Amino acid sequence: MKANIHPEYKEAVVTCACGNTFKTGSVKDELRVEICSECHPFFTGRQKFVERGGRVEKFKKRYNLD
Ligand SMILES: [Zn+2]
Repeated sequence: MKANIHPEYKEAVVTCACGNTFKTGSVKDELRVEICSECHPFFTGRQKFVERGGRVEKFKKRYNLD
């Protein structure tokens, strides 16, 4: 039961599509992600703004149609 059933957990360098890099724990040496905390819409607020605008627009349309 002492065999290497658990993968080795080491520090990996994560490279994001936005150019940001940070370190995290992983079984791989390096990781590539398309989004990170630096460019994630949740943190930049971009997506939130767009979503809110879209919802208001839809709501207005429905309200006017009724
Ligand atoms: Zn990023």
